[in-house]
Amino acid sequence: MLDRLRHRDCPVCGAPERDGRPFLSAAIDPARIDALSFASRKAPEYMTFRLVRCGPCETVFAAEAPEAEALAQAYGQAGYDSAEEAVYAARTYAEVLAPHLGPQQRGGTALEIGAGTGVFLRELQAMGFAEVVGIEPSLEAVAAAPAALRPHLRLGVFEPGCREADSLSLVCCFQTLEHVPDPRGLARAAYDLLRPGGLIAFVTHDYRAPINRLLGRRSPIIDIEHMQLFCEASLRRLLGEAGFEEIAVAAIRNRYPLRYWLRLMPLPGPLKPAALAAAETLGLGRRSLAVNVGNLLSVARKPL
Ligand SMILES: [Zn+2]
Repeated sequence: MLDRLRHRDCPVCGAPERDGRPFLSAAIDPARIDALSFASRKAPEYMTFRLVRCGPCETVFAAEAPEAEALAQAYGQAGYDSAEEAVYAARTYAEVLAPHLGPQQRGGTALEIGAGTGVFLRELQAMGFAEVVGIEPSLEAVAAAPAALRPHLRLGVFEPGCREADSLSLVCCFQTLEHVPDPRGLARAAYDLLRPGGLIAFVTHDYRAPINRLLGRRSPIIDIEHMQLFCEASLRRLLGEAGFEEIAVAAIRNRYPLRYWLRLMPLPGPLKPAALAAAETLGLGRRSLAVNVGNLLSVARKPL
């Protein structure tokens, strides 16, 4: 997939790549790309395509990246290694999304793009959605889904015509918008699928968050899977241009077990396994901790 990279202009506003400013140079070791490189919540590898920051909309994006088909294939074959963390993430997302949902959304149909094993679909059911649908490209993730959720999962990548226009009351996409080849196309397609008054919700990284600026190239957001990185300005641009209104973007706190936080930390060599082992020995590995790690929740409404 690295042999045929395609040049990209800004995937949010369309401004030419040559007008952008360098953000990070490429760091790719083909020997280290394996099935888990395109899985969610793997240990960070700090590999990246060449990143450029767009002037007009501030999106950071890969200036050269694999073709959409190659990406879809990579995610189709991706391993799945995040069962416990996914449950914690789903709880965090349900908590932060709930205040935005009114009765006009809860009675309708919710679609999740990048649903993994479907754990968030269960949260949506608990919040009162009449119908829940998850789209997930990884066969391994769908195969690992609990039996009760499998009928709600569609294997594949999100396609604009996957549902009837004006039929959904919620489209959500958590920690997935960075991975799609065309976020602008996704936002527009979601707009078409939503009924008037319906909501779109994203959780994304914020490359401007203090933690990510501090870690720089060693931040977990620097990842070969990430075709683009957002900040509040670029998310507002993306949603506004797709037609959404009442755009709200705010930092959230993620609740995860300590062992997950340790796995993400940029500790040198033997320190990481030592810290993990110490946490398990002390019985702290499973303890959960809510931390602002530079993630943003964006919610916006399709006008009535
Ligand atoms: Zn742009």
